[in-house]
Amino acid sequence: MENLTQIWNQVLDIIKPEFSSMQVSYTTWIETIIPMEITQSQIKLKVPYEYNRDMINLRYSNLIKNALLFVTGRNLEIDITVNNNSEEIKEPVTTNLNPFYTFDNFVIGKSNELAHATSFAIAEGRIHGCNPFFLYGGVGLGKTHLMHAIGNYVLKRDPSKKILYVSSEQFTNDMINSIRTNLTQEFRDKYRTVDFLMVDDIQFICDKEGVQEEFFNTFNELYHNNKIIIITADRPPKDLPTFMDRLKNRFECGASIDIIPPDYETRIAILRKKAYQLNIDIPDDVFEFIAKRIKSNIRELEGAIKKIMLHHMLIKKEINIDLAEEALKDIINEKKRKITPELIISTVEKHFNLRENDLKSSSRSHNIAYPRQIAMYILKTEINISLKQIGKLFGGKDHSTVIHAVEKIEKSRREDPSVEKVITDILKDIKI
Ligand code: ADP
Ligand code: MG
Repeated sequence: MENLTQIWNQVLDIIKPEFSSMQVSYTTWIETIIPMEITQSQIKLKVPYEYNRDMINLRYSNLIKNALLFVTGRNLEIDITVNNNSEEIKEPVTTNLNPFYTFDNFVIGKSNELAHATSFAIAEGRIHGCNPFFLYGGVGLGKTHLMHAIGNYVLKRDPSKKILYVSSEQFTNDMINSIRTNLTQEFRDKYRTVDFLMVDDIQFICDKEGVQEEFFNTFNELYHNNKIIIITADRPPKDLPTFMDRLKNRFECGASIDIIPPDYETRIAILRKKAYQLNIDIPDDVFEFIAKRIKSNIRELEGAIKKIMLHHMLIKKEINIDLAEEALKDIINEKKRKITPELIISTVEKHFNLRENDLKSSSRSHNIAYPRQIAMYILKTEINISLKQIGKLFGGKDHSTVIHAVEKIEKSRREDPSVEKVITDILKDIKI
């Protein structure tokens, strides 16, 4: 009998590398999926909102189907149902921990040894004064992995501990839903009664409807009860631009530690470990080939091994540099053509048949203002760039103009399928 969670985790492992430069899309559309049931011919999935279902059907169903085929060897139909929010809040606390993210699976190198040592000490309950633990660094460097490792380690030693791991989007959604459905007490019971609260990618906690205020209160309540709070972000507390100062001060009063891209030796060690786990033999020169080309993201290193394995299985040739080159040509070419703000802006201009630099002009006519808002939205959601920088790209628009644009497009994207289509088409163009 297959374990649904195991299958789903493997599916996520395959899908994840496809989102390497689109973390937000991954957390919003993929991470929110709950697998419910799998049969010989079908998998049942549950998602929080109707627009999640529509988005998956529109953009991600083939990706999911292919990954399922890879994992199960079967062509499965996907059946998506929409969750009823009030039920979700009433569910008992679940930890949300991924059992595969453990300390045992974590390769230690110079770039992450302090982050690892601190995480391990916290998991063992050895150090105090590290609360909150604020772990920061770029995408795909092991922050989420370490967070889960702490949770898994603690639970193994003491299953009665209450651990709650959430993404910032989950926290935000939970809170907004609880207000909408008058279940704020349930929300507080869920978040304020845990021994460990882990909030991932806090830079995405939005500044709306008192979400930060509520987070601040949750934080204080836990902190004063000596509960452990662990937070990750893509930058240090002081650089979180839209954050309340009170909250930043709180983050700074514990330990804040960064994790940087792995050096060459660590990359090789990680590749070896992943190959070993997947039970696949890869010669040394192929490890070197990958480690020289993929430098800054461990998720991509993993993705490379998987691609080589898939290629090897499909074409049944021995694994050598030629095969690696062929299997990784997308990743390597993509590296050559980096997704830059300029590329996004010019793609939007082309899509709307505008001339070069039209979007940077000060024109307010609708046929320019609307594409400009779309471009701002894509810049905000697809690459890591501040509102201020976005404003600058468009001839020094101020940051409230950018926020307004992002919010407007976000809303119409949900409500109007034609806007959704425009965005999907542009994203496709950017990624080719
Ligand atoms: P982040 O949260 O920093 O974006 P993740 O924790 O999601 O990164 O890591 C990306 C992928 O790389 C995960 O699958 C994780 O298991 C793997 N990974 C990251 N660091 C290591 C490491 N030091 N050893 C082994 N695997 C790692
Ligand atoms: Mg992460």
